[in-house]
Amino acid sequence: MQGMKAFDVVRLYFDRAADQMDLTDNMRRLLLIPKREVQVQIAVEMDNGELATLLGYRVQHDNSRGPMKGGLRYHPEVDLDEVRSLAALMTWKTAVVDLPYGGAKGGIAVDPTRLSRRELERITRKFVDEIHDVIGPDRDIPAPDMGTGPEVMAWIMNQYEKYHGFAPACVTGKPVELFGVPGRDEATGRGVGIFALKLLSRLGRPPRGATVAIQGFGNVGSHAARFLHDAECKIIAIGDVSGDYFRADGLNLADMLKFAHEHRNSLAGYTGADRLGKAGSLLELDVDILIPAALGGVLTAENAARVKAPIIIEAANSPTHPAADEVFAANGIVVLPDILANAGGVTASYFEWVQNRQHYRWGLNRVRQELDRALGDAFEHVWRLSSEQKVSLRTAAYMLGIGRVGRATVLGGIS
Ligand code: GLU
Repeated sequence: MQGMKAFDVVRLYFDRAADQMDLTDNMRRLLLIPKREVQVQIAVEMDNGELATLLGYRVQHDNSRGPMKGGLRYHPEVDLDEVRSLAALMTWKTAVVDLPYGGAKGGIAVDPTRLSRRELERITRKFVDEIHDVIGPDRDIPAPDMGTGPEVMAWIMNQYEKYHGFAPACVTGKPVELFGVPGRDEATGRGVGIFALKLLSRLGRPPRGATVAIQGFGNVGSHAARFLHDAECKIIAIGDVSGDYFRADGLNLADMLKFAHEHRNSLAGYTGADRLGKAGSLLELDVDILIPAALGGVLTAENAARVKAPIIIEAANSPTHPAADEVFAANGIVVLPDILANAGGVTASYFEWVQNRQHYRWGLNRVRQELDRALGDAFEHVWRLSSEQKVSLRTAAYMLGIGRVGRATVLGGIS
């Protein structure tokens, strides 16, 4: 990220809030340095008989508020620094929504689109072989993230249970037929949509006809698009790795969802919309709401001044470089930070974990109802703090998260 490492970005945002809170240097170190970092070698035989040696990570950032929680990312750019930064974000995220969890994150440096299903399964099971003794329902609970989904979670559960016996709560985001919950899949995107409507209403704009651009059409982007489309917003641009698709009078979302479903979740070859030329231009469209829902680090010092949307919702983790964040603040652009904006996913994960432990199943309506309430409460809290303290929503969210983690740390005692 433009000369700044991923963890340095999180540290910078952390420090902004810590300055407001007058946190001592010792307390800052205590809260920021991860509790444990694990790197493992994953040696597997590929389908062609060759041996592949991959690197897998799990960073357990903080457990003062409960077992650590966070996704597992399969992506070629995964490294320890990135996983560490994402683990720290999970600590603040779970605290902002007030879930009884700490933060963790894991990943494997691999491109899952180049793997067969069997290879993906072998790699996942091997990874669990290496880390099963540091995770578990009361320790650290993985979940989906970029490049992973319900199928990978099912393999994790199955492999973990070979060592520890029946334990469906050892991982969340499982298939609904295998101890998952209805509504976990859509939860991050639904949360993004709920927040978008809340921000529009705060800024005095009706949702009907509000224009939206979404970068990313994976689990998060597609569900956010669906939710906002149902709320009568106008989705005019959607991008994925194959390009940016645009229609000024609104994209045909049902058609795009169907196309992606039939083409391995990709929009490559979709002809029902115009293609935007220059890479990055989707981010610069004159829309009411901009939703980066793909990779981190896409809003930079270079493109920030050209961003026109008055509302940015960080559906992705860490999409905004601090230099861009400053430009947005100066230009009066409201940024809903990742640790609140995409917290719907981990909140629904919490519901899944609770149900697994109680052996009691909720229906979709209850999951949605409780999700909407939890996210609504967190939003109100952050909004209030931001107005009272005259700080950005990001700094307010960090202050809320850091305050809760700090108090739990002190109450638990350090010696
Ligand atoms: N990977 C998601 C996140 O970044 C979800 C984590 C979870 O459900 O534990 O929030």
